[in-house]
Amino acid sequence: MESRRKFLEKITASAFAIPAMTRPGQLFSNTKTPYEGPVLKVAIMGLGSYGTRVAEAMKTCERAKLVGVISGTPSKITDWQAKYGIPEKNCYNYQNFDAIRDNPDIDAVYVITPNGLHKDQVIRVAKAGKHAICEKPMAINAKEGKEMVEACKAAGVKLLVGYRMHFEPNTVEVIRMRKARELGQIMFFQGLSGFTIGDPSQWRLNKKLAGGGAMMDIGIYSVNGARYMVGEEPIWVTAQETKTDPVKFKPGVDETIQFQFGFPSGAVVSCLSTYSMNNLDRFYLNGREGFVEMQPSTGYGPIKGRTHKGPLTEPIVTHQTLQMDEMAALIFDGKQPVVPVDGEEGLKDLVIIDAIYKAVKTGKKIKLGS
Ligand code: NDP
Repeated sequence: MESRRKFLEKITASAFAIPAMTRPGQLFSNTKTPYEGPVLKVAIMGLGSYGTRVAEAMKTCERAKLVGVISGTPSKITDWQAKYGIPEKNCYNYQNFDAIRDNPDIDAVYVITPNGLHKDQVIRVAKAGKHAICEKPMAINAKEGKEMVEACKAAGVKLLVGYRMHFEPNTVEVIRMRKARELGQIMFFQGLSGFTIGDPSQWRLNKKLAGGGAMMDIGIYSVNGARYMVGEEPIWVTAQETKTDPVKFKPGVDETIQFQFGFPSGAVVSCLSTYSMNNLDRFYLNGREGFVEMQPSTGYGPIKGRTHKGPLTEPIVTHQTLQMDEMAALIFDGKQPVVPVDGEEGLKDLVIIDAIYKAVKTGKKIKLGS
């Protein structure tokens, strides 16, 4: 069986081998003038696999800089200090990070820990007066998500979710085409999101830490993708679960779920979320006058695809570099992304995921948005 890490490495092998012509910084400034505006000073919380990827990507950011860490593993803190030049005064653990309130050198905390920890950690970040960037899924259910949105609002800080695809150039181009009606009326979307999960003892298979199974981790890409590809919010959800390995996938940890959405326009969606099939990363959007197919559609890249007009040819970027630069622009300049990345957006996905789980449990069609 292939691990998620191996799978992602394979599909993204060239993400870091960015051709000179398409370096991320060039997306922001075609001018020769070096960027001189404010830089978002970020501390990463949770120095795991994805935290490391974000830290590496931030090396080439123009508007964001890694300046601090929050970790439960002292040896990682020392390693990161050496690797990224992080001063001792910007290092925290999970017990003492509320003191970040008194640290003017940190503007935002990027929470990259297991899903079940996001809510409490984001609320503590907000109470410390820092902007919170939180990985997907923002929380493990909509109730928690709402609490996070409210806490950040009350504290007057931004809450952003690590939806890197909302900035990815080929994805943004497809959204442009759909908005310009180049595909005609949208009729159907299919999203396939999955990989074969390895180590049965990892937190992703622990209901308390993961909040569920494949749906929370990878299925969310099809949930979120359905919304930005179709450009509407679903009004009903149906879903069916299949479990072939109840030992590995304990109660509350979904292995495979198929789900369907209906939209106000009449467009329909059919998706698959799984921890038991490899290399499943495909979007297909069908309109009355055209189509888009993307594969890979949400992996780290390069994102590939074609439409009825020909191949997608937007620049290949390191998603996390672009995301962090754009999030800095959002925080400092109020720049709005094509698809929102705020807490309300994260909450919309959680409401739908709650409905998917309810549909699995009851076997009923669940109505949304009334
Ligand atoms: P990892 O297991 O690789 O890292 C998680 C880190 O969180 C750990 O290394 C640890 O860091 C910290 N942590 C704190 N408490 C715990 C705990 N009880 N159990 C395990 N780890 C703990 O996970 P990932 O980095 O792959 O995922 C982290 C988050 O990022 C998840 O929400 C995931 O969904 C999201 N993610 C997003 C991706 C994207 O493309 N947007 C891709 C991959 C993941 P430390 O030792 O420093 O405390």
